[in-house]
Amino acid sequence: MSNTKLQATSQKHLLDELNELRHSKHAILLGHYYANPDVQEVCDYVGDSLGLSREAAKSDADIIVFCGVHFMAETASILAQDKKVLLPALEAKCSLADGITGAQLAAWREANPDYFVISYVNTTAEVKAYTDCCCTSSNALQVVKYYAPDHRLLFAPDRNLGRYIQLQTGIPMKLWDGACHVHNEFTTAVIKAQMRKYPKARVLIHPESAGASDDEIRNDARVFISSTTGMINEAKRCSEPQLLVVTEEGVLYKMQQTVPEKELILVAPTAQCEHMKHATLVNVLECLREEKNEVRVEAELAQSARISIERMLAIG
Ligand code: SF4
Repeated sequence: MSNTKLQATSQKHLLDELNELRHSKHAILLGHYYANPDVQEVCDYVGDSLGLSREAAKSDADIIVFCGVHFMAETASILAQDKKVLLPALEAKCSLADGITGAQLAAWREANPDYFVISYVNTTAEVKAYTDCCCTSSNALQVVKYYAPDHRLLFAPDRNLGRYIQLQTGIPMKLWDGACHVHNEFTTAVIKAQMRKYPKARVLIHPESAGASDDEIRNDARVFISSTTGMINEAKRCSEPQLLVVTEEGVLYKMQQTVPEKELILVAPTAQCEHMKHATLVNVLECLREEKNEVRVEAELAQSARISIERMLAIG
């Protein structure tokens, strides 16, 4: 048998076993838009952080295999305490979530006693437990506007998203000095250079990007700044045949499926989160088969952390 045929046969066996196991174990596979395409392909649901939180909360599965990074699996465990949450590779971390610890947030709160804490959902369970309300890039504007009239705000951990929200709303906030190592590379200079190179492209930018807060970029008529889901929706809605995509490259897979006729240009060839690529078909199958790599947030911590997520889900 040729190598190609052999690979196709073992791939088929792998997918057959995965499908058999997910049914017999009553498991659901959730994947982030930044996961490897072949992993996205086998997931029951693919989405951004907000969509994934909602799916985890409403799922009636016994097992959730989370094809994303550690804080996402923790969030699923917080919301679905009765379920076993598995992470195909435990080393899948997040530089943004690692940018603040629970102890650091507790100290920041203590130094600002009258402030209300809004944290991006890209945080550990400990950080969520010291947070008053979470947000994602989909709903950060809404969450900030909702609490601003009655509170002074601390915003953690993403300074880029926080600065962008401040500029869009005019609401002052104290910002934690954290960032995603991937989106932080999309600086004003990088984005502007690509915009000059592709002057007719619609420009879709994730607000975690460092350059999203630049006034010229933010106010440019070609620019649309939004969460990953919002970027995909805009790719479909807009009339431009060429799209400059300023976020992690994994999103191109779903976006190209949504707009196969359009040309997608990634802002930089290095726009890749290595943590998001840890989940492979092989380790997804292994972790489900052996029910290993469980991520479990203990009940007391989960109860504290859950309040901040539920407040967010109630707002939007
Ligand atoms: S892309 Fe950035 S925010 Fe997303 S998981 Fe990777 S490090 Fe974290």
